Amino acid sequence: MRTAAAATRPPLWLLAELTYRCPLHCVFCSNPIDYAQHRQELDTADWKRIFSEARALGAVQLGFSGGEPLLRDDLEELVAHARGLGFYTNLITSGVGLTEARAKALKAAGLDHIQLSFQDSTRELNDFLSSSRTFELKARVAGIIKSLGYPMVLNCVMHRYNLPHVGRIIQMAEAFGADYLELANTQYYGWAWLNRTALMPTVHELREAEGVVIAQRARLDGRMKVIWVSPDYADAKPKPCMAGWGAVFMVVAPDGTALPCHSARMLPGIAFPNLREQSVREAWFHSDGFQRYRGQAWMSSTCGSCDERGHDFGGCRCQAFLVTGDAAATDPVCPKSPQRGRIDAMLAGADAERACASGAVAPQPLRFVPGAAQQAGLVYRCDENSHALGKTGAAPC
Ligand code: SF4
Ligand code: SF4
Repeated sequence: MRTAAAATRPPLWLLAELTYRCPLHCVFCSNPIDYAQHRQELDTADWKRIFSEARALGAVQLGFSGGEPLLRDDLEELVAHARGLGFYTNLITSGVGLTEARAKALKAAGLDHIQLSFQDSTRELNDFLSSSRTFELKARVAGIIKSLGYPMVLNCVMHRYNLPHVGRIIQMAEAFGADYLELANTQYYGWAWLNRTALMPTVHELREAEGVVIAQRARLDGRMKVIWVSPDYADAKPKPCMAGWGAVFMVVAPDGTALPCHSARMLPGIAFPNLREQSVREAWFHSDGFQRYRGQAWMSSTCGSCDERGHDFGGCRCQAFLVTGDAAATDPVCPKSPQRGRIDAMLAGADAERACASGAVAPQPLRFVPGAAQQAGLVYRCDENSHALGKTGAAPC
């Protein structure tokens, strides 16, 4: 009989979250809400060992992420090591710190590809949502990336504030010469879960934006690929999260904790392995954290008897936990889930809130003014809020 470990294929994609430090404060950040309590960072030698172990197992792609990975001054050394091992490497960045000299040094180290995030096509909203004055800097960085011949992906997280600008976001990416534009509808974890009431669009707003994307795609006709990442709440279609738990993807958090996805750290009762103490092989094949939701044995009877289970793997465990309190539940976005009503209530809440906002309160805070975030009920991702939320459950600012 084959054991679970023997049936498991090795990881293909490693994401190295080099640091949780970041100069931006995005209201939808996917870093854990308590990130400020995980201050330790692996050193250069540990990261190199992890990359070597993962490559030896068969991993082929390595993303450098964070926080802001450019805050690590060993980034060039790590890229060179990874490239030397034969990884395809990509940098996922806000752009802060990507000077021309650094972009050239990373090119010399062998970096293959850069993903640059924008929050919106307007300076006002970009800066408002990240609580930083970074729009013009990002525009300069896009020029540097193109001038050095990197393939460039622009990424924009979509929500109620910027969905009406989707056409302008596409035009901005086109003007920058992006090869790909990823319009990633907000996934409600981490800080986005905290801010879900303010960020949640109505189904009507999503459909309008999707219509613009479809029309613009036809106009672009292969010059720039526009990826619309499905809003699973509205589509009522569970996503095949990470192509299955512990199937192809490993995230390594700054302190060495190995995770099957960015958000899994907040799931209770799971001992995730730390790569300071364990090898990548041990963690991937034998740890409780990676074994917990592998395969189909853990599934509820709803998923376990469903023909879709081999395609969507029962959906997202983090979403199941956040919405239902049970990480093993059927993903609540699924129409077969007994908890689907909770998602419908959130969408109905967005409709009701917009009906109120059509009165005196402007739904689009397009001005970067003191107090705008509090008025909108938004909590910025920052150290102070992270510490306070970890201790008291409330954010001071
Ligand atoms: S989402 Fe914003 S705050 Fe979070 S890591 Fe990315 S740039 Fe930094
Ligand atoms: S019941 Fe489970 S496997 Fe079937 S579609 Fe819903 S989430 Fe996917």
